Amino acid sequence: MDHEHLRLYDIPFVGLSEGEHAYTYEIDHVFFEAFDQSPIHNGDLYVRLTLDKKKESFFVLDFFVDGTIETECDRCLDTITLQAHGRQQVMVKFEDEASQKDYDDPDVMLLEPKATQFNIAQQLFEIINLQLPMRKTCEMDAIADKTCDPAVIEKLHKLQEEDEKPIDPRWEQLKSIQNRK
Ligand SMILES: [Zn+2]
Repeated sequence: MDHEHLRLYDIPFVGLSEGEHAYTYEIDHVFFEAFDQSPIHNGDLYVRLTLDKKKESFFVLDFFVDGTIETECDRCLDTITLQAHGRQQVMVKFEDEASQKDYDDPDVMLLEPKATQFNIAQQLFEIINLQLPMRKTCEMDAIADKTCDPAVIEKLHKLQEEDEKPIDPRWEQLKSIQNRK
């Protein structure tokens, strides 16, 4: 989370009045590049966040995400564009470090009592990732009438088969000789 770009998702809350506050964000590839091994490489998303300050130490964040994301087809690894619509609420609570250890709720963001701001990038990343279907293929592409490339699928299958080939017995013998040394 030390990526400079993600500082855009800092929300300083000191002095915020009670009630609702609205924030909007436009998300593109720069956002996803800030996360290691993101299954989503690119996107064109609009995010609306409503921060409802219920009281000094309790906020409710209501995220609304809408747009498209780019990811890989499970079958042929081609880039595909999928629709993404999602809504999720996250509660922000203030707890000292000792009581934070018992918490493991993804819908709750815990802050140190003396915090003055929080960052929503990780929450946003997770909410967007939840929009990915279990199985994603070219046929689901939201923009183009796409099908998997059969030549690529065949090549991938061949590579897989080579991986599964039994190890050359001579090599195994050599290894056991080396191990005895
Ligand atoms: Zn495909």
